[in-house]
Amino acid sequence: MAEREHNLVLLGAPGAGKGTQAKMLSQRLGVPHISTGDILRGAVAAGSELGQQAKGYMDRGELVPDELVIAIARERLQESDCTPGFVLDGFPRTVPQAEALGAVMADLGRKPLLVVNLTVDEDEIVRRLSGRRLCRGCDGIYHIDDEGVEDGGACPNPDCEGELYQRSDDQPEAIRERLAVYRRQTEPLIDYYDERGLLVNVEGQGSPEDIAGRLYTAVAERS
Ligand code: AMP
Repeated sequence: MAEREHNLVLLGAPGAGKGTQAKMLSQRLGVPHISTGDILRGAVAAGSELGQQAKGYMDRGELVPDELVIAIARERLQESDCTPGFVLDGFPRTVPQAEALGAVMADLGRKPLLVVNLTVDEDEIVRRLSGRRLCRGCDGIYHIDDEGVEDGGACPNPDCEGELYQRSDDQPEAIRERLAVYRRQTEPLIDYYDERGLLVNVEGQGSPEDIAGRLYTAVAERS
């Protein structure tokens, strides 16, 4: 599939596995993984003006205003590594963001998007988010129930052994807010893209490898 343009969007609730799957899929397709959440967390860590503007919203589990996120995505999609395609993770999250993305794609003369909706039960989502741990060293995503993962412990990847941490928005109150925000503002995008014939649903439960296999097949069938 290497010579095709893969303009992919991963949709799904927080904790549906978008980050994990976007990483694997982008490596397999040789296109960049673009996570607006990662870009914003980087800006917060760097203490930049963008980070200062975004931090409060993120800690409360609310969405950062559309104008800020649209500007980030527009700029990133114009970089040359996006020419063969991209995997967008966590953008768009609102109808105005989806409209802005459509306009950017048209301006850049790009092929249509393929939007993959990762479907996961709500109980499983809460279990995944409340147990999620990240590594500051390799950006690995783990779960507290995984072997070798402990609070205050090191990354289970023997080549890394970086510090594990819990995202500030993976606390129960912020999780509840993020899920409510998802239902209200992001879920309507499923119909938005379905009506435009761009949507495919992929079952997001099971092992990460099984999900990756289903996802790749769904993308290959439509490329
Ligand atoms: P994520 O890593 O995708 O779960 O994003 C973490 C947080 O960053 C979200 O809860 C929002 O506060 C913010 N964020 C990331 N992407 C967007 C977006 N497309 N629109 C608005 N806020 C976003």
